Amino acid sequence: MLIHGRCHCGNISFELDWRPEPAHIPARACTCSFCVKHGGVWTSCPTGTLRVTIGDPSQVARYAFGTRTATFHVCVRCGAVPFVTCEMDGRVYAVVNVNTLENVEPAWLDRASASFEGEDLASRLARRKRNWIAEVRIAER
Ligand SMILES: [Zn+2]
Repeated sequence: MLIHGRCHCGNISFELDWRPEPAHIPARACTCSFCVKHGGVWTSCPTGTLRVTIGDPSQVARYAFGTRTATFHVCVRCGAVPFVTCEMDGRVYAVVNVNTLENVEPAWLDRASASFEGEDLASRLARRKRNWIAEVRIAER
């Protein structure tokens, strides 16, 4: 399934090729302090491919906090946060924000809250390697 997403103004858009075809799409409401303030709800397909297209890179802010291992890509124009990346062993992994998806029915989402408090850094990175999208391309238009 080819999932389309974008920030509100369209400066950041993406296509997520979700393979194999999903029976349902997990939607994790993250309880970290950033995601609580932004209403961040994330999904990923470890065997999928993500292609991000950025119109004006000067209008994308990168925000990191805490362990600084995850980078939130924030559209400066409209404030949406369509995706997060994490670089591990020279590879970029990503999750996308369910709230920025364009062609996904709410009923397809399997919503749950996810708390990663208390997880040590090694377990956190290992979990991302297992669950996050491992094929990520970011291009400027
Ligand atoms: Zn935008």
